[in-house]
Amino acid sequence: MRKFGLCLPLLFLAAASCEAGRDAEPIQIGHDACSTCRMTIVDDRYGGEVISAKGKVFKFDTLECLSQFHSRAAEKPAASFAVHFAHPGRFLRLDDAVVTHAPSRTGPMGSSLVAFQSVDEARAVLNDPAIEPLSWQVYSKTP
Ligand SMILES: [Zn+2]
Repeated sequence: MRKFGLCLPLLFLAAASCEAGRDAEPIQIGHDACSTCRMTIVDDRYGGEVISAKGKVFKFDTLECLSQFHSRAAEKPAASFAVHFAHPGRFLRLDDAVVTHAPSRTGPMGSSLVAFQSVDEARAVLNDPAIEPLSWQVYSKTP
């Protein structure tokens, strides 16, 4: 009985964290294809991922492709992530990310949208104090 008393709160915690939303699935560089343009994803600094309301995972080689997907989506996805430019392979929740144009760092197919954790980080990494974040919601017409 004492054992249950210790385990039950942990079970509730685990269930609560599952309901809070799924984490992004790692992108397999050189293997996964972009859900919009079908190109193989080859650069781990660009792109992102969307998990639909039904739990289907969509991966993108650029944030431009993710934006096109958002614009066409009929319903709000369960979660959207951007690849963290400064930490390749890691994700930021798009709602919390700072997305900006970085014309000096063009990615796949000439894309220039990159994501950071903060404006300060974007300015430091891109070595440009004039960097301004763009409004992702306006840019991508997020449903
Ligand atoms: Zn693409």
